[in-house]
Amino acid sequence: MSAMLEVKDLEVAYGKILAVKKISFSVEQGQVVSLIGTNGAGKTTTLKTISGLLRPTGGEIWFQGERIDHVAAHDIVTRGLAHSPEGRRIFPRLSVEENLMLGAFSRRDPGGVRSDLQAAYDLFPILGERRKQPAGTFSGGEQQMLAMGRAMMCRPKLLMLDEPSMGLSPIMMKRIMTTVSELQRQGTTILLVEQNAQAALKRADYGYVLEVGKVVLSGSGRDLLVNDSVRKAYLGED
Ligand code: ATP
Repeated sequence: MSAMLEVKDLEVAYGKILAVKKISFSVEQGQVVSLIGTNGAGKTTTLKTISGLLRPTGGEIWFQGERIDHVAAHDIVTRGLAHSPEGRRIFPRLSVEENLMLGAFSRRDPGGVRSDLQAAYDLFPILGERRKQPAGTFSGGEQQMLAMGRAMMCRPKLLMLDEPSMGLSPIMMKRIMTTVSELQRQGTTILLVEQNAQAALKRADYGYVLEVGKVVLSGSGRDLLVNDSVRKAYLGED
């Protein structure tokens, strides 16, 4: 069986700057796969290209057996591939519930949307308690929950999370990472981009290390966690 997501020799440029240089990786159904790497490694660019916000200059992207590298972003969401972007991108003046409903824009099943809204409130009770409040009043961690909840509202088969732990306290980060495992248990496949290598690899079935636009290492999350060069470069060990 082919992988749920397959990225082959992907190349992405900003003008003359090549940010992603022929990277290849795959995500099997049901897995959590992590992309780790330092600032500027090309992780965000890779996710934006998969979700159709940027166009590749080379290579191919396949999702569920279909090529998607020139499909429109809204169509990619409709096919079941959701993106919770870096910096969260919530709408501060809209209420929590309105933000969540934006994630369901393409759906035509109001009953299903209502039950998924309830599922988001079950997953993150604070969203339910404050559903009528403007999202801009939320803390960073709460906004991250909202961004994840919104991405879940299109009932994705594959959820891409860009740096969900960024700027969060250790407790909030643990909560977000526990949710990643919970979503996997419920059947969602996850592609996780993180600078926090420890947290990302601990939960990953498989991981890829990116450096200046290239995959330099890959392996099971467990193997990468004990890999000497990963420990030195990303886990702050001598
Ligand atoms: P970070 O964790 O800091 O977001 P990243 O691994 O996600 O890093 P990208 O944001 O994908 O890295 O950036 C990859 C490279 O592309 C960097 O050299 C960056 O400066 C460059 N880049 C990103 N966005 C743009 C842009 N809009 N215009 C020009 N160059 C860009």
